[in-house]
Amino acid sequence: MSGPRDWSPGGGRRRGAVRRILPVMLVFAVVVGGTVYLRGDLQNLLGTAPGSARSAVATHSFHSESGPVGGRCEGLPEELDADADATLTALARCLDRMWEAVLEPAGVDYEEPAEVRLVGSPEEAACGTEDFDWAGIYCGGEAVVNVLVEGGPDDGSGDGSDDGSDDGSGDGEVFPVMFTLAHEYAHHVQAIVGISAQDGSEVFDEAWSRRLELQADCLAAAALRDVQPYLLNDLRRSLAHGTETDATEEDAAEQRASHGSSRSGALWMLRGQREGTVGACNTWKAPEGEVS
Ligand SMILES: [Zn+2]
Repeated sequence: MSGPRDWSPGGGRRRGAVRRILPVMLVFAVVVGGTVYLRGDLQNLLGTAPGSARSAVATHSFHSESGPVGGRCEGLPEELDADADATLTALARCLDRMWEAVLEPAGVDYEEPAEVRLVGSPEEAACGTEDFDWAGIYCGGEAVVNVLVEGGPDDGSGDGSDDGSDDGSGDGEVFPVMFTLAHEYAHHVQAIVGISAQDGSEVFDEAWSRRLELQADCLAAAALRDVQPYLLNDLRRSLAHGTETDATEEDAAEQRASHGSSRSGALWMLRGQREGTVGACNTWKAPEGEVS
């Protein structure tokens, strides 16, 4: 009930004050609550989630202001397979020079990884991770690049005691390891420019991980496009046809979920190889179907 008889000076004033403030508070609560609750949807609506051209990572200056990626690798041995260690060490130096030049126009000071470890077994990696199912791994905290070199890091170098099976035949055996090295270097670059540190503001999940990994594949292909174009073609094609895997079904599914399918990997490698730019490797604005 309400009407003239309910009116009293004090109560009326109080009710009036509540009546004025309450709607404002309600609207405020709905806006704040709604923003928190619908954050992901709002990001989609406003176009700031990964997968949108307007997301913070997609518009990062790394993609628009970096210099071209690629170039020949001076100092790389003629026979790539003769001494895997020497080849990978020379490639690491090339990648340092390359990324320093690429990042300069974007105003980013490149820093070399603290260490490049050519390990004979995953247990020797610097990260101390329990995950031993990898060909290469980048330890973000320590800035250490680890690459698994089959047969041990000393295989084929120095006295060359037991390298009867791969004595520099030059059939590109070491090239997949070179690609892994370039991929881990790309993770190092992503860390330097701050892309892999976006997990504070963006949702960190498997979809996010796939964009990060496929970008690293693309950047690795761009980095090696002039170094060994034919071997890069072979590797990309074998990936596209899914002939490279001997993993269990479960491992393969996990790999697909966090790194993207082989088909997606091949697609992004092709883009990096063709274009040779960081912008061509902007997986962050790609539709979901290209990073699945
Ligand atoms: Zn990776």
